[in-house]
Amino acid sequence: MVFYPPAWVPPLPDVPDSITLEEFLSSEKYGRHALATSRNPYTCGLTGKTYTASEVVARTDYLARALAKRLRFDPHDGTEWDRVVGLFSLNTIDYIPFTHAVHRINGIVSPASAAYSAPELEHQLRSSGARALFTCVPLLDTALKAARALSIPDELIFILPMPGAEKKTRFTTVDDLIAEGESLPPVAPLNWIKGQGKRQVAYLCYSSGTSGRPKAVMISHYNVIANVIQAALHDGVARKHYGIDTQVMLGLLPLSHIYGLTLVALLSQYRGDEVIVLPRFELETFLAAVQRFRIEQLNVVPPILIQMMANQDKCDRTDLSSVRFIFSGAAPLGSELVEELLKKYPGLHVGQGYGMTEASPLVVNTSELDTLIGSSGSLIPGFKAKIIDADGNEVTTHEIRGELLVQSPSVVLGYLNNEKANAETFVWHDDGRWLKTGDEVLVRKSAKGHEHFVVVDRIKELIKVMGHQVAPAELEAHLLSHDFVADCAVIPVHDDRAGESPKAYVVKSKQAAGKPEKEVAAAIARHVEEQKARHKWLRGGVEFIDAIPKSPSGKILRRMLRDRERQARRDK
Ligand code: AMP
Repeated sequence: MVFYPPAWVPPLPDVPDSITLEEFLSSEKYGRHALATSRNPYTCGLTGKTYTASEVVARTDYLARALAKRLRFDPHDGTEWDRVVGLFSLNTIDYIPFTHAVHRINGIVSPASAAYSAPELEHQLRSSGARALFTCVPLLDTALKAARALSIPDELIFILPMPGAEKKTRFTTVDDLIAEGESLPPVAPLNWIKGQGKRQVAYLCYSSGTSGRPKAVMISHYNVIANVIQAALHDGVARKHYGIDTQVMLGLLPLSHIYGLTLVALLSQYRGDEVIVLPRFELETFLAAVQRFRIEQLNVVPPILIQMMANQDKCDRTDLSSVRFIFSGAAPLGSELVEELLKKYPGLHVGQGYGMTEASPLVVNTSELDTLIGSSGSLIPGFKAKIIDADGNEVTTHEIRGELLVQSPSVVLGYLNNEKANAETFVWHDDGRWLKTGDEVLVRKSAKGHEHFVVVDRIKELIKVMGHQVAPAELEAHLLSHDFVADCAVIPVHDDRAGESPKAYVVKSKQAAGKPEKEVAAAIARHVEEQKARHKWLRGGVEFIDAIPKSPSGKILRRMLRDRERQARRDK
């Protein structure tokens, strides 16, 4: 049985396939967008510094001119693979104009998590083939360590201005480049041929997919444009109903993650909304920004809402009356938390979306007009879905759990240089190419009788900590490099604050024999803390075990460990 979006969802028109994302967002031709409204697309939530829509266009243009010269990129020579640029920065109002400028010269942006350690960044820059790196002062030390390891010269390292970190460095800043670009000749129009937008990569975001280590996901211009239109159409029905033209949106989620990039920034720019950009989550600055800028929609991950509910006194001292909608994504939003929020703020609407990097990202979305607590909403326009049960059969009725498979113009081109992962994740059936999500869902009808998708479990290995991806295979490989570890497996465990956190099951090596377990566990945890981003730390603990359960072919039986963990939690 194939599932489609409900009847109230408008159909998806043809998605432009011969333009860049930047052209799509800056041309009057493609409907409602920033240039047509009086709102400024990007405003700094700390300082109030703001760019008008025409400033965004002009900055993009000047920056593209300087990039073409400084990076020695010829937009009309070679392929986009010769023009991959790494972006390792906290959120700033220059983040998106910078990505537009790279696209303007036919390049690819590879955004890296600002939480990364130097080796993690190095892995991304190396595997994406980045030739230059844009970063910011607070992350400069880490950026330089990675750049040195890859021999990226200092002339190809640039700084995005960051409020509160104006320290002068020897590196060229984006503002220097823009000033330089003003006196350079314009970059010739790209004039893509029909279908080029479907093939040409806009972003190389990183995801571990259904198994293994983080991999570069090739997201085309067409994929992102499609998802922006799909999300806008789905949301548009409720906006029209409530008479909402444009809104002030919270831009706190990392723009390096596809959720922040597509659904917070680019979607808002397309609709003419104003994004209040914050570099990182701190409850006080977040609440102050909501009050100061009268933010109307909060785009968050569940742990942010948990922190809000745990700090009621601070929320009560803030004027949050402007907030009318909270949109949560990237991880499951508990029903109890929604009920608690609605009790505390009765006029509020709370919805969640479900998506993944490989779908650019949104798949299902909650409409304010059709909610079902616990569900992630209904399919957005242009999506088709199938559910495959444990026996590999297509589910034909509701309420039966199985793995979700989807088709959509926003489903990405695949993983870069990784045929094995491509074959596992993007599968061909008689009716075309399907994305295997690795998520277990069931379909349930809302009070209005529409099909909603409830995410019930995760089949794939992935762990989600505060909405960030943690790949067990990456941590296991790292743990195995420690003398005390003979074998290991990493699984997610429930974490009240972060949603989930990684826990390691470890078989001790001979070198660890006779040592106190507490000492061995601490050494292993430290080994992770020294090399990996904070969200990958073993907050779930280290437990020693005689043998890691494995299948005859040597595959770790994570499910057994997860069931054991869940049983222990129930017994508590
Ligand atoms: P990412 O590629 O980092 O966006 O991670 C995608 C994964 O996050 C999905 O495959 C799900 O496992 C999880 N996820 C995203 N949104 C939700 C949601 N609303 N409910 C449950 N899990 C989610």
